[in-house]
Amino acid sequence: MDKNNFSRDEIVRILDSEDPAVSDELFQNARRIRSKIQGDKIFAYGFVYFSTYCRNNCNFCYFRRDNGIERYRKSEEEALAYAKALIDSGVDLIDLTTGEDPLYHQEAFATFANIVRTIKQDYGTPVMVSPGVVSHEVIDKLREAGADWYALYQETHNRDLFGKLRIGQDYDERMNAKLYARDSGMLIEEGLLAGVGETSEDVADSLLTMGEIGARQCRVMSFVPQEGSPMEHSETPDRSRELKIIGLMRSLYPEALIPASLDVDGISGLKDRIDAGANLITSIIPPMSGLMGVAHSVMDVDTGGRTIEEASRILGEMGLRIATRREYIDYMNEVLRK
Ligand code: SF4
Repeated sequence: MDKNNFSRDEIVRILDSEDPAVSDELFQNARRIRSKIQGDKIFAYGFVYFSTYCRNNCNFCYFRRDNGIERYRKSEEEALAYAKALIDSGVDLIDLTTGEDPLYHQEAFATFANIVRTIKQDYGTPVMVSPGVVSHEVIDKLREAGADWYALYQETHNRDLFGKLRIGQDYDERMNAKLYARDSGMLIEEGLLAGVGETSEDVADSLLTMGEIGARQCRVMSFVPQEGSPMEHSETPDRSRELKIIGLMRSLYPEALIPASLDVDGISGLKDRIDAGANLITSIIPPMSGLMGVAHSVMDVDTGGRTIEEASRILGEMGLRIATRREYIDYMNEVLRK
């Protein structure tokens, strides 16, 4: 299968195939492509989810507005302390994430921008921002503060399904925020959720859309049911689907950053995702910080499972290693921004 390009029909055929030889060939090809482009290097992001307040009510999400959970909003100093600890542990970038916190909207993202500025300028570390849908002015402010990436996941590119998942939200407003960020010089990440009622054709459309909009980081995560949400009793999909999507992304977009998220299955899910062609570990969280993940909000966090040390050990057994920050910055500037 030594090819990089798949038509929509071919993508659907691979997704629907139950033949293990088809997956094996896909993953082998994905690993070959990754190794040709970046050798034994795997990138790693630290995750600082510093406010779990959200004005939205996404049906799949634990942090949706109407879920009566305990929430936190970390101070600027706390967020920076977590970021610094992650940087010192060896991550390549800090992913600053929040729910769509009404307070940050009220204060026009001044605190968020301060955090970005300190991490970028004082700590010399690349930054991804994931604040949800924000105005063009806020995107400008975060970019000027030094944010390299804007992550905003559509989750599906089927508009009907989008409407059922992201209740009351506007598909085009979300997409346009992402495109504005791209056009103003930021790198963008697009993402999809697997196992939320999408068809294989929907997945193929999402994969092709990621290329069309110029996403340089492409993410897939399996849906995990969240307590207290309307989808609490829906089933989590078999992981073979997520792995195939990772393999397809690698084949379609050889240079893209494709995460193996520790958020879905914790550290035990790392190897399979790297084997499928992922080249980036996301959701590394400082232990004992009280910070949360997204899909599996606490899994492996306080036991120290989601750390660089643990990820490095697993990669080492696979003949791989975590890239240095310098290597990541070079990759971002010389490959992703070219
Ligand atoms: S997915 Fe994001 S926007 Fe939607 S409810 Fe959860 S935190 Fe809010």
